[in-house]
Order: sequence, then C-alpha cells, then structure tokens
Amino acid sequence: MAPLPDFLRPLVLSGPSGVGKSTLLQRLFAEFPDKFGFSVSHTTRAPRPGEEDGKQYFFVTREKFLELRKEGAFIETAEFSGNFYGTSFQTVREVQDKGRRCILDIEAQGVRQIKATNLNPIYCFISPPNLAALRDRLQARGTETEASVTKRLATALKEVEYAKEPGVHNLVIVNDDLNRAYQLFKQVALGEEVSGDKLPPLDD
Ligand code: ADP
Ligand code: 5GP
Repeated sequence: MAPLPDFLRPLVLSGPSGVGKSTLLQRLFAEFPDKFGFSVSHTTRAPRPGEEDGKQYFFVTREKFLELRKEGAFIETAEFSGNFYGTSFQTVREVQDKGRRCILDIEAQGVRQIKATNLNPIYCFISPPNLAALRDRLQARGTETEASVTKRLATALKEVEYAKEPGVHNLVIVNDDLNRAYQLFKQVALGEEVSGDKLPPLDD
C-alpha cells in the first residue's frame, strides 16, 4: 500500500494531563468538522460531567476492557492514574475509512507502543510553559481530587523526561498562549511544514 500523504497520516498528540490537549482538539474539530476524526479510546475511568459515551471515550468496566484486550482489539493500552486506556483498531479504521485524518490523544506508554506498529503517525508533544502552570490548569479544570492532581503531576514528570529523549516527537508545541498554540497546532494538523517550539526546561 502506498504511504499516506502527510495530511492523512495519523497525528498522535501527547503531553501531560491538564496541558490543554482536549482544548486544542475541541477548537480544531469545531473549525474543521469534516477534515479530522478523533480516535475515541476505551477507558475504565468514570465519565466527567458533560462527557458522553462514544464521544470523548467509550466508558467500559475493567472486566470489559480486559476482555477486549485479550481479544486483541487494541493497538495499544496503558494504565494511567489507576485506570486503563486503550486505542482500538476499529476506531482508527473507522476514521480512516471516512478519508479523515485520525487524531489520537494518548500518554507516553501508548506512544512507545505505537512506535512499534506500522501506523506511521506524526508525533506532536504539547508542553506546558512550566510545571506551575500545569498544576494551576489541572486544579482550575475542577475535575480531579487533590490526590488525583498529585498523581497526574507525578506522571507529568515522566512524560516530560520521555519527551526530552531525542527523536521521540516530530515536534513540540508549547501551550502558553492558547491562541498562539492553536494556530501552530492547526498548521500541523493541516499537514503544513512547521518547525514548532523548543521544549522548555520544565525543571521548576
Ligand atoms: P488535557 O486534555 O491536556 O488534559 P484540557 O484541555 O482539559 O487538558 O485543559 C486543562 C485546563 O487548562 C482546562 O480547564 C483548559 O480550559 C485550560 N487551558 C487549556 N489551555 C490553556 C492555556 N493556554 N492557558 C490557560 N489555560 C488553559
Ligand atoms: P484523562 O483521564 O485526563 O482523559 O486522560 C488521561 C491520560 O490518558 C491523558 O494523557 C490521555 O492522553 C491519555 N489517554 C487517553 N486515551 C488513551 C489511550 O487510548 N491510550 C493511551 N495510552 N493513553 C490514553
């Protein structure tokens, strides 16, 4: 099969929880309702207020998740903050069958597994300007308990360490000013050649 042109290669978005990945994606899908398709993952975490089954996630029990995993339904899976998450082959296939660019929002264990497949995506890391801003955003979102915020921030440090390894991502976008970050993200999603931002030190 011929390789997909850049604007149709899957786009893997990763970055610490609370950095603004969903916010950027929501804007993109609102601006381009027909160009992109979100890879709706399966998760065992509880829905947040406003989340709908089949839209942000397929919300499943641990038993169902493990059954699907055993059947080989997933391209990759991860355990994150006490819950399972996974990308099914079916969800990616359905997006691609519509001729849309498939966008995955996944964490670092998933990125490592995707690298061992033939999906051949473009990897884009969304970085916070600094770690204090990340904590503020996670708290301001109001969806996590204090314990969950602490857990997610500890995981964020690992995500950042992984992102510092050379060659892991094709490019970095620093989500400092949302409008600026969105303009850059939009260019990437549309397959335009952009050099992206420099990864901040993130050692504060
Ligand atoms: P993620 O999907 O990466 O976990 P969200 O998109 O849910 O993160 O964003 C986390 C919180 O940060 C939300 O309340 C969102 O409104 C806010 N946010 C997103 N981008 C910015 C930004 N550039 N500056 C300040 N707050 C932001
Ligand atoms: P949240 O609970 O905040 O929606 O997501 C927590 C983390 O799980 C985020 O970093 C998100 O990118 C990641 N995630 C969501 N779906 C998947 C998935 O299918 N696979 C992997 N590996 N990570 C996922």
